[in-house]
Amino acid sequence: MRNLSSFYINGSWVKPLGGAGSSTFETISPVTEDVTGRIVLGSYYDVERAVNAAKTALESFSKTSRHERIELLKTIAEEYRNRQHDLSEAIAEEMGCPPWLAKEGQFILPEMHLKTAINILETYEFESLCGNALIRRQPVGVCGLITPWNWPLLQIMTKVAPALATGCTVVWKPSEYSSFSAQILAEVFDASGVPPGVFNMVFGDGGGVGQALSVHPDVDMLSITGSTKAGIEVARQAAFTIKKVHQELGGKGPSILLEDADFNKAVVSGVKYVMLNSGQNCTSPTRLLVPRQRLAEAETIAKETAEAMKVGPPETDALIGPVANKQQWERVQHMIKQGIDEGAELLLGGPGRPEGIERGYFVKPTIFSNVSNEMSIAREEIFGPVLTIIPYDSVEEAILIANDSPYGLAAYVHSARKDHAIQVANRIVAGQIYINGDMDLLDVVVPFGGRKMSGNGREFGAAGFEAFTESVAYLGYTSPS
Ligand code: NAD
Repeated sequence: MRNLSSFYINGSWVKPLGGAGSSTFETISPVTEDVTGRIVLGSYYDVERAVNAAKTALESFSKTSRHERIELLKTIAEEYRNRQHDLSEAIAEEMGCPPWLAKEGQFILPEMHLKTAINILETYEFESLCGNALIRRQPVGVCGLITPWNWPLLQIMTKVAPALATGCTVVWKPSEYSSFSAQILAEVFDASGVPPGVFNMVFGDGGGVGQALSVHPDVDMLSITGSTKAGIEVARQAAFTIKKVHQELGGKGPSILLEDADFNKAVVSGVKYVMLNSGQNCTSPTRLLVPRQRLAEAETIAKETAEAMKVGPPETDALIGPVANKQQWERVQHMIKQGIDEGAELLLGGPGRPEGIERGYFVKPTIFSNVSNEMSIAREEIFGPVLTIIPYDSVEEAILIANDSPYGLAAYVHSARKDHAIQVANRIVAGQIYINGDMDLLDVVVPFGGRKMSGNGREFGAAGFEAFTESVAYLGYTSPS
């Protein structure tokens, strides 16, 4: 049992202040459904305390030199690596994911972002000239960071690394479902000698700590990664204080297989990406768009690939673990039933747990074919191991279907002719468009973010530095007098 009952504020572990909104959250193992811990969730008063600390620390931290911040981030990187075992173990426990995934992707990707921030900071141009003015990119100020549970370390590192690199101070509210890993990450910052008040963490839920951070007048920027629903709420709550709002939200990635695409490569890796992390990825190619005359071929490859992916608890050699919580399991089950009710053809999987598994939030890898883009399973983000295959009759129709979605996060185009794939890619509305690849093309320096209901703003690499700075113009700077 892990009992977490303090917050990291102003360089110390402090007891919650209590008050309206404060409560206790029970964590449940997604593998066994047993209670694994209790977490005290904070109140408005705890947020007030953390924001005050961040505001005070901003005075000096925003004036630190590039060199000082590079040294600090390097120490954080060392401490992060020192806690690899603990962090991976915590993620495996809270998400039920296979140990290899906790140890590799879930741990290493965030580390890559941290190192990228250090590299960029070495040479980042904070100042430039424009007309008669000096333009200086200044830290945006006190940043409220709200993150989900699906890639819990990755989602905070893509925010906190550029925030600290640019001289901002932060108050982080992790998802209540990923508090174990959040606790250890806060210990990493503590052990790294981050000055008091620069990094603060308060456990809480969306309606409590999340809302208190969004409305707070001394929070200059609110950056959220989460569902579109939560992103809308945060923007609405933040509107009264005109703070900067950055939203990394949901997705329903279309993957267009053009007539001449290498189906073996594209379908196999697409299916693996959809199933990775039990389907809890915002960028997965969950809508596979296939020319009708090659539908049967795509179905066979997709089915064989998913059938070979074993589902089970972490102690087995399973590639796919459970989904992270009961609410998520129920939602995925509901969506699968809805797909059947709406007339999609069930190729693999379906409702209920996989055979031989009696407990835990395990889902059968599920594939629907002959899906119409109007069906709920094609429109809504399922966030489980569920692929929808949508046939199309012309490239024009494929582009229409790809864009006919409230989301615009990631999209994929595959063709033997790269120029043709690029032509099609140019007509897709999404923040990232992958040409002839998917996971193999991931690059932590390339701007990441959504269009339409998938969000606002960009993270990763230099784009993260832009997100956490504001340009200030000093006019007359180059004038003779
Ligand atoms: P969620 O929206 O339920 O919660 C995300 C975070 O927002 C949590 O910390 C939650 O407590 C907080 N929150 C919820 N309501 C809030 C409110 N009213 N005010 C302030 N904070 C609030 O999402 P989740 O279930 O934790 O994560 C899954 C979602 O995240 C999916 O929709 C997925 O697509 C999305 N996601 C997006 C990206 C991206 O970069 N675009 C990456 C990963 C996940």
